Amino acid sequence: MAAPASDWVKFAADRMLGRLAKWLRVIGQDVIYGRHLSGYGLIHAARAENRLSLTRDRGLKEKQPPEFIFIDSDDYREQLRQVIRACDLRAGDALFTRCLECNAVLEPKTKESVESLVPPYVFSTQEMFFWCSQCRRVYWPATHHQKMLDELKTIGVL
Ligand SMILES: [Zn+2]
Repeated sequence: MAAPASDWVKFAADRMLGRLAKWLRVIGQDVIYGRHLSGYGLIHAARAENRLSLTRDRGLKEKQPPEFIFIDSDDYREQLRQVIRACDLRAGDALFTRCLECNAVLEPKTKESVESLVPPYVFSTQEMFFWCSQCRRVYWPATHHQKMLDELKTIGVL
């Protein structure tokens, strides 16, 4: 299968690939994920939005899906390596730019505008904030970012 160019690829992750979906969002990839995404549900969603399906379902290919990647491993770290390799993604290019819960692209927020939305300690110690206009979650670079960076380095993709 030809590797799609990373500047257009969007993913639809099979419902059994939740951790992979989350980690792809961590590195800024556009990936839909949810309970409805398996079998024909996955195929319909992938077709409707021109997405590359990611699946561990061996039966999917019998259902005439559009282009997909069969994920070999049960381990999300190996899964992430496989997708990054197959699609020639650069994991460091768009880190932390997407909401991990709903896949929307995060927008910068001024410090003043989040005062009532974040804990006082966070407000007094952080300068940069981003938010998701869909779920209204506020993000800021902090220790969980560092943990994720460490994890990505351990996985070997950064
Ligand atoms: Zn969100």
